[in-house]
Amino acid sequence: MSRPMNRRQLLEELKRLLNSPSVAVRKGRLRREHGLSVYDRDKNTNELIDIKITIDPRNAAKVTVMIHELLHIYLAQKHNIDFLFSTPIEEAIVTGLAEDLGEYLHNPENESLFHSWVRAVEAKLA
Ligand SMILES: [Zn+2]
Repeated sequence: MSRPMNRRQLLEELKRLLNSPSVAVRKGRLRREHGLSVYDRDKNTNELIDIKITIDPRNAAKVTVMIHELLHIYLAQKHNIDFLFSTPIEEAIVTGLAEDLGEYLHNPENESLFHSWVRAVEAKLA
C-alpha cells in the first residue's frame, strides 16, 4: 500500500497530465474567471477521451485556472468524480482543492515549483 498523496505529488500528477499529448489546451475568451474542460468517455473502456481544456490567456491567474481544470480531469480519470457527485459538489471539491494548491504554489518556499508551472502553462498555451 502506498502512502497517501501529498500536495507536491498531486501537482506532479497534474503536471504530467498537462504535458500529456492526450490533453489538448486551447485559448478562448471566457466570460467567467475559470476555464472550461470537456471530455468524453470511451464506450468500452470508460477511459477519458477527447480531453480539451480552454483557458483565457488574458486571465492573470492562468496557473490556478489550469490547475482547477486539470483537477476536474484528474479526479474523473482516477476517481470517477463525475459519477460519484453531482456537478455542484464536484465544483466545490475542485474549487477548494485548486485554491489550496494555489496557496501552496504561492508560498515563497515553493517559488521554483511555481515558476515551473508558469513555464509549463505558457508552453501549452503557446
Ligand atoms: Zn470547475
